[in-house]
Amino acid sequence: MGFNVLVVNCGSSSIKYQVVDMETKDTLASGLVDRVGIPGTVLTHKPEGKEKTVIEKDLPDHTAGMQLVLDTLVNPDYGVVKDLGEIKAVGHRVVHGGEAFAESVLITDDVKKVIRDCFDVAPLHNPPNLMGIEACESLMSNIPHIAVFDTAFHQTMPPENFMYALPYEMYEQYKVRRYGFHGTSHYYVTQRAAALLGKPIEQTKIITLHLGNGASVAAVDGGKVIDTSMGFTPLQGLVMGTRCGDIDPAVVFYIMEKLNMGPAEINNYLNKKSGALGLSGVSNDFRDIGDAADAGNARAQLTLKVYANRVKSYIGAYMAQLNGCDAIVFTAGLGENAIPIREQICANMEFLGIKMDTEKNKVRGEEVDVATDDSKVRIFVIPTNEELVIAMDTYKIASK
Ligand code: ADP
Repeated sequence: MGFNVLVVNCGSSSIKYQVVDMETKDTLASGLVDRVGIPGTVLTHKPEGKEKTVIEKDLPDHTAGMQLVLDTLVNPDYGVVKDLGEIKAVGHRVVHGGEAFAESVLITDDVKKVIRDCFDVAPLHNPPNLMGIEACESLMSNIPHIAVFDTAFHQTMPPENFMYALPYEMYEQYKVRRYGFHGTSHYYVTQRAAALLGKPIEQTKIITLHLGNGASVAAVDGGKVIDTSMGFTPLQGLVMGTRCGDIDPAVVFYIMEKLNMGPAEINNYLNKKSGALGLSGVSNDFRDIGDAADAGNARAQLTLKVYANRVKSYIGAYMAQLNGCDAIVFTAGLGENAIPIREQICANMEFLGIKMDTEKNKVRGEEVDVATDDSKVRIFVIPTNEELVIAMDTYKIASK
């Protein structure tokens, strides 16, 4: 019998899942339970090669949500396994592993304690992640559960890049430092880029751009992250859909004073109302912003320029840190699909050896090299696959 892994990613009111057959690496089914614990819960299930199924059924919590997922997976009509015995392990996406985990791990009580200790620094993500783990453990207690952390791949960063210039006790007492996120995605595209370069990963210098709703850049030297744009939280770095990215920290106090805001309000303001949404006044979705810019909306046009220039600055900074660069990789929603944004980012960088072939760049969601033949730096578009990384790590640890 094959080895199927269930990949689970729990948000505060959602459960994303995927079943991966580890022999073929094929996804057998994927789906989403939305509005868990809120009236109007909906499960959307997509078995590979079949029509999707939608089930509406109010569910009080993540355990009830997971139960519905498992019932769906074994359903004779639209399920993908005969019985749950065909699922051999569960891989859980966990956002924050602090400094404790540089790799994925088998979940034990000690591991759960670390995930709980990180509630403070990842209040939106780690509590639902742990809820998902406990729900799955209660329903599938006889198989191994593995945690795969968003922060793990970045743990190779040297202190000179992860330390902030704050009084040292902030690090010692409160673990205030740069962590970095989207690690599984940066890892996946780094591996693919090395394969496309046809070089051993140890000999590669790669800059990976994960440009989705959240966005981050990583500088990867010989397969190891040396710097990344997200920081203590996913608020730092690039301009994002609704997050401001890098700003002068003094702006925070100024806004708080002017708008009479407390810490929770300013946090919400910078995370949910800023970024491309706040700057453009149009939307947090770059498709809408692109349409508005094409129609002549000046703020939308400005937003795209600010966005692209922030990415350019990081590319320049990371080329300096890496002392070179073999390839730049575009991935995630915008990176894989936003043709004009990729073009804008790569424009006027010939000095750095970056030359895009704008005809080749006219692709969406495919793994391709869009650099000119004489470009010193390759420019890859690589669709990310975080679920596959989670499934492979889970398989590796569970089959030991
Ligand atoms: P998440 O970070 O939630 O996983 P994704 O990586 O799926 O998000 O990215 C979603 C975002 O990608 C959308 O909000 C949108 O801004 C952007 N996007 C997707 N397709 C396009 C496109 N064709 N042009 C511009 N932006 C796009």
